[in-house]
Amino acid sequence: MLNNQGRPTSAGETDGTTHATFTGNRALIIEEALLFESGRLEVTGVDIDEPEAFTPRLGGLERKVPIGLPGFAEPEAMRHFVRLSQKNFGIDTGLFPLGSCTMKHNPRLNEKIARLPGFADIHPLQPVSTVPGALAVIDHLAHYLKTLTGMPAVAMSPKAGAHGELCGMMAIKAAIAARGEGETRKVVLVPDSAHGTNPATAALIGFTVESIPARPDGTVDPADVRKALRPEVAAIMLTNPNTCGLFEKDIIAIAAAVHEAGAYFYCDGANFNAIVGKVRPGDLGVDAMHINLHKTFSTPHGGGGPGAGPVVLSEKLAPFAPFPYVVNARVLIEREEEVMNGETPFGRLTAFHGQMGMFTRALTYMLSHGADGMRQASEDAVLSANYIRVGLHDLMSAPFGDQPCMHEALFDDSWLKDTGVTTLDFAKAMIDEGYHPMTMYFPLVVHGAMLIEPTESESKASLDLFIATLRDLALAAKRGETARFSGAPYHAPRRRMDETRAARQPVLRWTPPEPVKDAAE
Ligand SMILES: *Cc1c(COP(=O)(O)O)cnc(C)c1O
Repeated sequence: MLNNQGRPTSAGETDGTTHATFTGNRALIIEEALLFESGRLEVTGVDIDEPEAFTPRLGGLERKVPIGLPGFAEPEAMRHFVRLSQKNFGIDTGLFPLGSCTMKHNPRLNEKIARLPGFADIHPLQPVSTVPGALAVIDHLAHYLKTLTGMPAVAMSPKAGAHGELCGMMAIKAAIAARGEGETRKVVLVPDSAHGTNPATAALIGFTVESIPARPDGTVDPADVRKALRPEVAAIMLTNPNTCGLFEKDIIAIAAAVHEAGAYFYCDGANFNAIVGKVRPGDLGVDAMHINLHKTFSTPHGGGGPGAGPVVLSEKLAPFAPFPYVVNARVLIEREEEVMNGETPFGRLTAFHGQMGMFTRALTYMLSHGADGMRQASEDAVLSANYIRVGLHDLMSAPFGDQPCMHEALFDDSWLKDTGVTTLDFAKAMIDEGYHPMTMYFPLVVHGAMLIEPTESESKASLDLFIATLRDLALAAKRGETARFSGAPYHAPRRRMDETRAARQPVLRWTPPEPVKDAAE
């Protein structure tokens, strides 16, 4: 079935829940053509005078043919972008239980402060003497990050969690090289349940990755770490709380073993939101840990950016933190010649200081919550996850038994055995119910994993409705109502995408479509 723009309609199949419409629109969800399909070369929303005659100075390289950009009247352009924005699901639309990603509410106060002209309109190349306020924000935020983690130093410039991992591991690499062990310590240990960015980071900067298994309770056994430790090991990368939503209870013993072997302990701190105000990673023996401001400290997750992933560093790694760094509201160290106290930065990670807008938002979150408020946010996040876990545990199976979780509840797919419904089908049926699916098939160590992280943002009423919805779906799956799942989502603007083909054969360039012929009946 093709709509009037010659593209397949989402409502093309008549399956009892949907029927095709002439326009391809579904009630007030309106189909949106690409700008190239709907724009016209002869139209423009602005009136610009013809330029006076001039001689180009591009040495004959200037464009000889029109640029071919589609044009729009202002209302058309407005509608296009507003409709696109309405197709987006976000934390401002509904519950977004994506485990490990921490899709929590972004308080509007953060936005108000970040938009103050004194923060929003400054430029990184302005003289330092004109931006003491901005440096003070970075310095204040750094202070609170060090206080909350119990660590003596922090590198502020990394622009995402994964970038923070890179920064921390580069500091570790530099520290090892400074000890003269750069040629021998080449191995990084990573538990099976780690986020894919951990082994990717280690491999990117030339380490060999070795995996450590988890024990049946989902945590890492210090004995397994000790077995793997040897003079070739540079570091362990361990997530705590881990990606199974469990606190690594032997983390102090693991840290001690790693240090005894002359290696460093990198902690993936993406799940710091579960323990802020409760545990200080510095007290656990961590040498480096990134903090995703967009997870723990409520800054927006924006389509691959603009994130911020500051890395806290131990005494041993602090001297290797990269340029530039803020000493205080008046002093910024940018270059080798300016370095004080025998520090040996490993280099420069980003052009400037990091994501200023995110720093402002995260500091606003911290100051508006206070120490007690941040501790309560962690407690509420853990409470919400356990409320969901207990609300579903009689119907859905948990891979590591009936133990309490931290900030996310993990289920596997053994409860779906013989129902004909998979984790993917179940997640797609959640879309019909108005929920963004949870994280699926991660962590990889759990078969058909469903990782649910409600965060502290949800009210009890919201959690109750979510639990009731998942119970309804779970019971339908167990009753054998496979049709509710196999074709889901039925109500979404698009049905099931061919994700494999999209990944293998991405179409990155628009080409004009073949003219649509009237189908001969
Ligand atoms: C989100 C996450 C990362 C990566 O963080 P980004 O900011 O997305 O780069 C790394 N590890 C874990 C466990 C995460 O949840």
